[in-house]
Amino acid sequence: MKQRGLSTELIHRGEDAPVRADSVNVPIYETTTFLFESADEVRRYQEGTLDKYLYSRYANPTVVVTEQKIAALDRAEAALVFASGMAASSTLLLTFLNPGDELLCSAATYGGTFHLVNDVLTRFKIAVRFATIEELADPDRLIGSRTRMCWIESPINPTLRCLDIARVARACRERGVLSVLDNTFASPINQQPLALGVDLAMQSATKYLNGHSDVTGGAVSGSRELLQRVDMMRRLLGPVMDPQAAFALARGLKTLPVRMARHNASAEAAARFLEQDRRVIRVFYPGLSSHPDHEVARAQMSGFSGMVTFEVAGGLEGASRVFDRFQVIRRATSLGGVDSLVSLPVLTSHYNYGEEELGRAGVTAGMLRVSIGLEDEADLIEDLDQALG
Ligand code: PLP
Repeated sequence: MKQRGLSTELIHRGEDAPVRADSVNVPIYETTTFLFESADEVRRYQEGTLDKYLYSRYANPTVVVTEQKIAALDRAEAALVFASGMAASSTLLLTFLNPGDELLCSAATYGGTFHLVNDVLTRFKIAVRFATIEELADPDRLIGSRTRMCWIESPINPTLRCLDIARVARACRERGVLSVLDNTFASPINQQPLALGVDLAMQSATKYLNGHSDVTGGAVSGSRELLQRVDMMRRLLGPVMDPQAAFALARGLKTLPVRMARHNASAEAAARFLEQDRRVIRVFYPGLSSHPDHEVARAQMSGFSGMVTFEVAGGLEGASRVFDRFQVIRRATSLGGVDSLVSLPVLTSHYNYGEEELGRAGVTAGMLRVSIGLEDEADLIEDLDQALG
């Protein structure tokens, strides 16, 4: 074969024939595009008779492996991953909602979701109807002729209130309304939205799914038919997950069951410690019988996850004093990672909310939210104890 120029050699050598390395893990396919042998191959790909990769914005082998793992977790026919939880939510909403449609949305939802539907979707003449947790207990009355989708979250931040998911899903199905659950706080290990009757499960993979506070991502699971439509929108909007992030997420997913078991156990121990402590006014943890939705949570969750919220006296000043004293639990927003993190809801997720809005969300200035990580349980409880002062 004719000797080619150095640049040609450097660019092509070794890359035009696939290497079979039998690696234990699927490698990071850090490529934007894929080779074709002939015009005939391209034609067969376009006609759907050749199963092959074309372009990484559409599909990439590392990303597809991660999606298969998430589908397995959610017991779903299919799953798609995205560059963030918000990318997953926005793509999903734009796939199924049209001008004139109404979205029924839980008022108790993640702040980013609230602003997306309230400030952005409404610009496209999509009406949004917010319903409280109490109203969603009787969902039949909330669904109107224009309602196309219902978006719920359970447990919700930071009070960890829970909705009767199966009840909402049933009401939606009977009226041909698509139901979506943001399952971020529970994770599929503790709660199976599709088995409860929800059409689509969405989650921020940034949290428990990845679990190490080092990947931003999102995921949607459901039937192949619905996911095909979400996939078409993802191709157009372009919020796909990068192969590097997908590789890291797939690695995190392998330990999700063992991580969740530890998150569940340590959080329950922390919640029980806080509940018996007189320096604490109130503890919010769905696994405690004192939680207003304990029975609902018990019926639909197999574990109560790693999030614990508690309230101390003295409003924001009192909560700040506790916050500043933590030594093991780290002061940072977000959740679901190996590191325990603490945040003050009124300075983070509910910053700039008025008194009335805070009241509606059940949030008070004296609340601290802790994401219990994988440190030793005794160290975490000792840290909570010393931080309370
Ligand atoms: N849903 C919930 C419940 C969340 O807590 C978050 C982020 O905190 C999101 C969605 C958005 O996810 P991301 O930050 O990955 O875009």
